[in-house]
Amino acid sequence: MNVLKFGGTSVGSAENINKVISVLDKYAKEDRLICVVSAVGGITDRLLKAGNFAQAKNENYISEFDAIKQIHSSILLELIPSKNEVILKQLEAKLQLLRSLLDGIFLINELSPKTSDKLVSFGELLSSYIITETMKSRGMEALRKNSQELIVTNSNFTKADVVYEQTNTNIKTYFEQATQRITIMPGFISKSLTGEITTLGRGGSDFTAAIAAAALKVNRLEIWTDVSGMFTANPKLVKQAYPIESLSYQEAMELSHFGAKVLYPPTVQPVLKLNIPIHIKNTQHPEAAGTTISNDAGKSTSPVKGISNINNVALLTLQGNGMVGIPGFSKRLFETLAQERINVIFITQASSEHSICFGIDDKDGVLAKAAIDFTFENEISLNKIDPIIMESQLSIIALVGDRMKSHQGISGKMFSTLGKNNINIRAIAQGASERNISAVIAEKDVKKALNTLHERFFETETKQLNVFITGVGNVGQKLVAQIAQQKSYLKEHLKTRMKVVGLSNSRTMVFDETGLDLKNWKDQLANGETASLEGFLDRAKDFNLRNSIFVDVTANDAIPKLYPAYLKQNIAVVACNKIACSSDFENYRELKDLSRKYNAPYLFETNVGAGLPVIDTLNNLIASGDRITSIQAVLSGSLNFVFNHFDDSTKFHDVVKQAQKEGYTEPDPRIDLSGVDVARKILILARESGTKMNLEDIENDAFLTKNNLESDSVDAFYETLIEDEAHFQKLYASAKANDSQLKYVAEFNEGKAKVGLKEIPRGHPFYNLEGKDNIVMFYSLRYPEQPMIIKGAGAGADVTASGLFADIIRAGNR
Ligand code: ADP
Ligand code: ASP
Ligand code: MG
Repeated sequence: MNVLKFGGTSVGSAENINKVISVLDKYAKEDRLICVVSAVGGITDRLLKAGNFAQAKNENYISEFDAIKQIHSSILLELIPSKNEVILKQLEAKLQLLRSLLDGIFLINELSPKTSDKLVSFGELLSSYIITETMKSRGMEALRKNSQELIVTNSNFTKADVVYEQTNTNIKTYFEQATQRITIMPGFISKSLTGEITTLGRGGSDFTAAIAAAALKVNRLEIWTDVSGMFTANPKLVKQAYPIESLSYQEAMELSHFGAKVLYPPTVQPVLKLNIPIHIKNTQHPEAAGTTISNDAGKSTSPVKGISNINNVALLTLQGNGMVGIPGFSKRLFETLAQERINVIFITQASSEHSICFGIDDKDGVLAKAAIDFTFENEISLNKIDPIIMESQLSIIALVGDRMKSHQGISGKMFSTLGKNNINIRAIAQGASERNISAVIAEKDVKKALNTLHERFFETETKQLNVFITGVGNVGQKLVAQIAQQKSYLKEHLKTRMKVVGLSNSRTMVFDETGLDLKNWKDQLANGETASLEGFLDRAKDFNLRNSIFVDVTANDAIPKLYPAYLKQNIAVVACNKIACSSDFENYRELKDLSRKYNAPYLFETNVGAGLPVIDTLNNLIASGDRITSIQAVLSGSLNFVFNHFDDSTKFHDVVKQAQKEGYTEPDPRIDLSGVDVARKILILARESGTKMNLEDIENDAFLTKNNLESDSVDAFYETLIEDEAHFQKLYASAKANDSQLKYVAEFNEGKAKVGLKEIPRGHPFYNLEGKDNIVMFYSLRYPEQPMIIKGAGAGADVTASGLFADIIRAGNR
């Protein structure tokens, strides 16, 4: 004999029922079988909804009933198209009984647990009827046996306890005399000792099948559902989750108890004692291996087998000085909860005995608090203990695995992973068996927590970075192109999956949690929603994805004001925008502090020398114990371009125009030519070297004339360049006379910085600096005479984009 159970989705449509029948047909050729079926998917919920409407005197119960009727009739008509009047009439009659029950609830305005069980029993009664009749109509040797005649329970309506002795006898006796090849049994429903309809709890059809399997001591129990086994985590929340090949009974129980809905927790009990293996199979993919649950948990090397979660948890804390050392508090506490039939999911008590903290279903929270406050009324009035504290909208996440106990450091890994992602842990519990470590966190963090933990314990191979880019001008476009191009390289060589989740320019923004398609991002962005800086932040916050990175590829001065908000959400900030780093020192300091506090990297390598690794090198020198004594640098690609092209055969005005045209200057060339841009850069290097400094502290030896500096628009500025050509020619002539090159140099020396135009003599490392190149010389304790030199292209969209790219990778390695 084989026992197979098919869940709600498996019997949720005519098409799926046909798949079920084809599985049964194959099995029936080998042996007799029992097929336990759930209600058609979603029907139990709809029955309860109709009942609640009726109870509330809301006539919407009728339309809910009509929908239920329609669903069943159309499934039947599709399965048996030949319009078998007898079967249709029978179905009508059953639905009529349901309608009368709902009318009754409406009339008396009451829905007791007893009536509720009667109501929901229609779900399984109807589905089992339709399936049996379909099979019979196709000539299969099938018969329906109502489980209520076999499974006996107490009168705990909505979640009754099985009376095993009687139940087992009933099942054995019935099947000893039954001769049919296939027996269809409705799951979930049962009858009390006093003859009332009861149910085994939501999801209880799995349990029905286990009860039958154990009573008949069959060789295996199969649970057929809509996923290919028990997964490493809920596949609806963790895309990378995969089916677990084998689990021990205890592991399966822990995972299901902590929320892996694919198996109703009590299911394991009856089969465990008899060592009957459970196979979880997928009705849509019968060929998939699925999961085997047995005593032989396989030779899995992973100590952690799965991660599960329960939402809608309330955490209650009973505390007070009067609790210390006095026995009996916990007994009274848990007795109170038992009296109210409140299930406790989680308990933890500190060794000080000063407080007990426990988790229950959110919906029981108010009742629990009232009942406990009542039980301890006296102690509360004497200030021995405090009124109970309740927090809701929490979730429990649990790591499960038999072999966790023989592996050190798993909880350390679990908590550091959560901590790094800024997920606050409210309470922790570890069973004495060490098969389970669970933590209570905010419900809003569940998806992020599951995904980070999954990545940490099951995907050591890959890491996902979720990128939000604002600004898709020259540099931003190149960055997106580089991300698209490097996708497979990153996956293969760095084990990194980089997804662009959000993209924005000043007009529109688009998002896709699964990663935007980078082939046609321009169209998507053009059709996106209206952009707003706060809106972009809010969306990044709401996605709440692990390893989130915000990339600012603008020169906008409003965006840096939002960096603190990003960092506080544990979202890394990567910026080529220099404004924040060169703003007031206190602001720079705050960003650095927030970055440390929230473990969210704040990286701005491209602020100095575009893609050259200037800041990273500086940081590495300092981190390894070196101290910077002096920095000499040519940091403006644009000024270098200008002075490399300017001589007595050109006009200064024309050279600046050309530099702007080729994209080497800021949109406003005055920022470059006045030296402000270079001053910002040396300021950032000085600060990164550990000096507290502001932009005003930097001596700026301007080479522009007063006339140039006082111009009030870009056009007027260009005019003044023409007017003052003689001044620039004089600068050139002097340098030429001294066999020197003009270079705009930034210097930092023992706490002081200055910028200005210099005549660089032949032989100096700066003399031959070409095109738009930058050069930085670091003098330090370790490099006192021969400086460390970094030199190369210091401007241009491509190199800046690659600098941003490198920062994104660095941010991902947090
Ligand atoms: P059925 O109606 O067949 O009994 P359920 O809806 O009760 O199916 O259970 C299957 C569902 O359980 C899956 O579709 C999935 O959403 C959910 N689930 C939650 N956690 C897990 C997990 N760890 N592995 C597999 N499924 C899970
Ligand atoms: N139909 C019931 C429910 O939805 C039982 C089950 O599907 O296992 O809870
Ligand atoms: Mg189920």
